[in-house]
Amino acid sequence: MAGNYAFASDTTAGVCPEAMAALQAANAGRAPSYGDDGYTAEARQRIAALFETECDVFFALNGTAANALVLAALCQRHHGILCEAWSHIDTDECGAPEFFTGGSKVLPIEGANAKLAPAALESQLSRGHGVHFPKLRALSLTQSTELGTVYQPSELRALTDWAHRQGLAVHLDGARFANAAANLHERGFSPADLTWRAGVDVLCFGGTKNGLFGTEAIVFFQRELAREFEYRVKQSGQLASKQRYVAAQWSAILQDETWRRNGAHANRQAQVLAAGLRALGFAILMPVEANGVFVELPPRVYAGLTERGWHFYKFVGEHGYRLMCSWQTQDEEVAAFLADAKAVQAAAG
Ligand SMILES: *Cc1c(COP(=O)(O)O)cnc(C)c1O
Repeated sequence: MAGNYAFASDTTAGVCPEAMAALQAANAGRAPSYGDDGYTAEARQRIAALFETECDVFFALNGTAANALVLAALCQRHHGILCEAWSHIDTDECGAPEFFTGGSKVLPIEGANAKLAPAALESQLSRGHGVHFPKLRALSLTQSTELGTVYQPSELRALTDWAHRQGLAVHLDGARFANAAANLHERGFSPADLTWRAGVDVLCFGGTKNGLFGTEAIVFFQRELAREFEYRVKQSGQLASKQRYVAAQWSAILQDETWRRNGAHANRQAQVLAAGLRALGFAILMPVEANGVFVELPPRVYAGLTERGWHFYKFVGEHGYRLMCSWQTQDEEVAAFLADAKAVQAAAG
């Protein structure tokens, strides 16, 4: 059986039709290379318009590079980076932040549901003895988080205020920023409210998980932090020579709110999936605030679903599994998964 990867990750989804059409349209003849093209200028303008502020925008080909390059711009090699223990920068980037900073230490801290709170950060100030411990320089937050939760703007503000009081710059890993933004849009918050107005200095704005191919935007709201950043992008092999293909996709999803619709669609499917699993009696382990569902499945139910071809990952504890929805998740796929969960549950007795 080929296997069904519908809920394995939001990166198993394809490229959304709007971005695919933009790739095709950008394929018309020649254009200047390395970002000197009209597509790149337009994408930068649209990103600045979305955030309602002047900002410096760069592109990287994946989230690991975007995060690592930003942290390298914020930190010197004797610095420390505070983050939550589930953070992608600590658990999923093969030490890229340490490598690109040339030695900064990533300092993971336990939070609740993958979210940090100022009280947890405060204890970090008394770690070590002067020059014997890295000097804290950056706070890295993830929105939406690795466990599918979302920071409210007021929660971000409390964290960024704390960071700025200590002289730390704030990086936001927004690989799933669109999912958080879609959630908070329903409560009347704009992208600006979730970023620079809440004290975020630099955002890594995820394109890939939102339906683009091979692009993340790096948005510096504190523009002095972006000094010479273009050299870091190039040196690390992240400057696309045919950048027009990257940029055209961004303009396509920004011009008509596709980015937010994609995020909202994924979030809605996660809600339906979670409700269905809950109705079958399975425990949902985290608040479902974005596009991920974390569910406890008994071993026989997990085995039964695997036999029926479903692929997804164990994530939390012994029996906590992650199910990710995307812009592409179909109603029929959610229904099929729930039907199979029900069938294997009955068979498992
Ligand atoms: C997916 C993801 C990234 C980016 O991962 P790449 O595979 O390097 O593109 C970064 N941060 C978080 C929280 C993610 O989920």
